[in-house]
Formats: sequence, structure tokens, C-alpha cells
Amino acid sequence: MNQYDLVVIGSGPAGRRGAIQAAKLGKRVLVVEKGTRVGGVSVHTGTIPSKTLRETALNLTGWRERGFYGRAYRVKKEISADDLRRRLLITLDHEVDVLEHQFARNRVHHIRGVAHFLDAHTLQIDKDDGEQMQVTANAVLLTVGTKPHRPAHIPFDGEKVIDSDELLHLTEIPRSMVVIGAGVIGIEYATIYSALDTRVTVIEPRQTMLDFIDREIVEDFTYELRDRSMKLIFGEKAEKVEREPNGKCRVHLSSGRTVSADMVLYCAGRIGAVESLKLDNIGLKADERGRIKVNPETFQTDVPNVYAAGDIIGFPSLASTAMEQGRIAARHAVGAPAADPPQYFPYGIYSVPEISTCGLTEEEVKARHIPYECGIARFRETSRGHIMGLDSGMLKMIFSLKTRRLLGVHIIGEGATELIHIGQAVLNLKGTVDYFVENTFNYPTLAEAYKIAGLDAWNRMGELADHNEDEAVQAQAAQ
Ligand SMILES: Cc1cc2nc3c(=O)[nH]c(=O)nc-3n(C[C@H](O)[C@H](O)[C@H](O)COP(=O)(O)OP(=O)(O)OC[C@H]3O[C@@H](n4cnc5c(N)ncnc54)[C@H](O)[C@@H]3O)c2cc1C
Repeated sequence: MNQYDLVVIGSGPAGRRGAIQAAKLGKRVLVVEKGTRVGGVSVHTGTIPSKTLRETALNLTGWRERGFYGRAYRVKKEISADDLRRRLLITLDHEVDVLEHQFARNRVHHIRGVAHFLDAHTLQIDKDDGEQMQVTANAVLLTVGTKPHRPAHIPFDGEKVIDSDELLHLTEIPRSMVVIGAGVIGIEYATIYSALDTRVTVIEPRQTMLDFIDREIVEDFTYELRDRSMKLIFGEKAEKVEREPNGKCRVHLSSGRTVSADMVLYCAGRIGAVESLKLDNIGLKADERGRIKVNPETFQTDVPNVYAAGDIIGFPSLASTAMEQGRIAARHAVGAPAADPPQYFPYGIYSVPEISTCGLTEEEVKARHIPYECGIARFRETSRGHIMGLDSGMLKMIFSLKTRRLLGVHIIGEGATELIHIGQAVLNLKGTVDYFVENTFNYPTLAEAYKIAGLDAWNRMGELADHNEDEAVQAQAAQ
């Protein structure tokens, strides 16, 4: 009874997709999840809660309508933490329900408990009620994800000095907030709270933020955040955080400067949740950030029947990529290898405004000495943009001068994370600037920005016909 083809540890996007894939191939599959409900970080503390919070904030504040009605426009005058939480609970319940139904429909067994290795084929599961059980598996898929990094010098108290998990339990929307760390999670929450009228200061030790994003997009983004009075302090470390007698928090920076706020959100990094797995028992070691090394094609660890996928293997640490990794790993683990994934995947940052990117940045194209041309469209140039009252947002595409192929697409503004998929398809199908110039786009849409940006580049590129050389592929292969 306790013998499985595949045991998956963790029920986040990688585990869930891997388990269902193996079950669809007729295998006996068990998912072990230590959380009270299935879904992982993605459903309970990460992707879905943060995106629900963002949607609620934009709806209740009337953010999207302010281009027309002015910055003072509000749909709901007094927004409370309860308003934010209500929608969150409904969305999470629905997500868990769908997931449990998927497991049931595909006959995936799931058990609540903490799993650890006894040997490479045997796991012990410690259940909440104190009961222990052992299961054996032909293959094991580790999809245990990550948890927030909580350094000792930050006095977390779960109330005023918090990490990104604790943010979801706020009982009040703070009037001011310091966000330590300008990574994706820090920036998403900083801009969402700024949209809720919280005075936000972001502190980041590096001189820049979001280094993997095209610089022109980051410049536009930075301008927009400063324009709405967000404070961005770069090149400064948060050395100490203390609570003051008046209940406020004071953050001491490396320069000696201090910043005071109602709340401090610490968002500088996450570490792999490997501590309970007893990896030593199978001779596996995680790196200093708790990540596990895998073969990038099969997702096999150094122990051949043990696979790992999702955030536990590091970059890009996205729910979207975790799902694909889980699926490929599970196929390999049960002897049904998958086709290679397409070359380019999109990256979405659900800040306000949102950003999405796919393919090479202008900086990467330059570094590879690829002759290129850019095409840019501002959303305010599109009729849809006028109708929506958009005064910001842009789409940038980069094309090879030799092959005319699209090398990268970068978008900031309303709908960026949806619009990106047009560019992603053209990139993966090896399309050229001519696709955008020759095709008809629905009118009026924001997608029309693709045509405008295509024409912008085409005007400077002219009609060249040499489609032979393929630097983008070569450059990527040389990485
Ligand atoms: C605030 C935030 C916002 C995000 N926004 C986005 C976004 O917009 N888009 C996007 O694509 N990604 C986003 N992400 C990233 C996304 O959530 C992760 O990439 C994704 O959840 C990783 O999935 P995973 O399958 O690796 O594991 P996780 O979702 O991390 O789940 C791992 C599960 O394993 C369980 N577990 C751990 N150890 C054990 C054990 N020993 N036994 C049993 N169970 C165990 C944990 O309880 C957990 O439920 C966001 C993350 C955060 C934190």
C-alpha cells in the first residue's frame, strides 16, 4: 500500500504539475505537504495572494481610472485591511478547491505531514497528530520551495517588522512603510502599497534594481515611482531596525541616515526549505542558500532517482516555470522523457505599473555585439490607450539588423504581463519585424503597440532580405 512510483514532496506549482503529469501517465503518485492546505507558497503566501491584493488595491482605489479623473479619484474612500483580506480568502479557497479536485480526479494521493529521507527510496512522514509512516518510491520529486530569509539583525515581531508572508495578515494598512530589498517581491509590494496611499521608502544596497530587466524599462519605471512620491534609496544597507516609544520603526542606514515609518517589510531574499528533508541520509547537499543542483534537462539531482524542480533549484523562481519543470521532471522520473522546452519564457513583475519581458535585453544584445535596431511604442499613441486614459506605458522590441528577427520584447504598463505572450510567440517561432508590420491587429487594442513599435524599427531598418544568419540562437547557445 505504501509503495509508489513517484512521491512528490511539496504541493506548490512544481509538485502539483509533476504529480498530475505522472498520474496521467498511469503511475501511482503520492504528494506529501506539510502545510495545512495544498497549494504551496504560490497559493498561500506568494503568487496568488500578492496578485489578488494587487487586483483588489487597483479596483478599490480606482487606480486605472486616474488618467481620466485625476490623482484624487477613489472608488472607495476608506479602504481597510479587511477589504483587502475578504477577496483574498475567497480566491484562495477557490484555488485550493480546484487543486484538491485535480488531485482527486487524477487519483493522486495526498498526505499532510513533513517528509524526510531514510534512504533514496524510503521516506518517513511525520503527521500533525504525531503519527509516523514510511513510504517507498521508485522516484522522488523534491518541490519544497523556499521561505523568506530572516537575518538575525532584523527584529521581526510579526506586527510592525515583518516578512512577506506576514504581510498577508496585516490588520491595518500602514500610513508609511519601509521596504528593505528592491527585488521582485519587494518592488511588487512597495508599489501596491504606494497605490493604496501608503508612503513607501525602498532601501536597496545595490545602486540599481531589477538588473535582469532592460535598462530603458527600469528608467521609465523609476521615473514613474518617483513621480508619485515613492522614495527609492539605492546604495545603502539597512544596518539596524528598532522600535521607538511612539510605536514607529526606525531604520538605520549604512551612511548614518535614518528613516522612520509605521512598518518595515523585509524582502531581501528567500532560502530553500530543505532543512527538514534530511538530505544527508542520501548524500545530497544544498548550497548556502538552500538550493539543490540538478541536471537542467532532466531535473535529476546527483542521486539518480531523486529529482528537484521549482524554487528549490533557483533561477528563475517563478510559479510559471516551476510548473513546466515539475512536469518535465515527473516525465523523466517515470520513464517518459519530455520534449525540450521552447527557448524563451516570459518574466512578469506585477508591480504597479506592471512589467514583463521575454528574450534579450538591449544590454545583452550589445554585449554580444549583435547589430540591432529598436522599435518603441508608447501606450498613449494607441487609440485603446486614449480610451483607457493611459498616460504611461511603453513597449520596446529589439530586432537583429542581419536576420530581422525579434530578439527581445520588453513592456511596462497596463496589461504588460498579458501582452508579452504575442512577443514570446514571435520570438519562439523565430519571427521577424515583418510579422508586426504586415499583420493586422484588433483595433482599438493595446496590442496595436506591437505594430507601432514594429513600424518604428522598420522605418530605420528598411527592407533587408537576408534571413540566413541567426545570431540570437548562437548568442543564447554561447551563454
Ligand atoms: C510574494 C510572492 C509573489 C510571487 N509572485 C509570483 C508571480 O506573480 N508569478 C510567478 O510566476 N511566481 C511568483 N512567485 C514565485 C512563486 O510563488 C514560486 O516560484 C512558486 O511558488 C514555486 O513553486 P514550488 O513548486 O517550487 O514550491 P512552493 O510553492 O514554494 O511550495 C513548496 C511546498 O512544499 C512544502 N514543503 C516544504 N518542505 C516540506 C517537507 N519536508 N514535507 C512536506 N512538504 C514540504 C511547503 O509547505 C510548500 O507548501 C511569487 C513568490 C512570492 C513569495
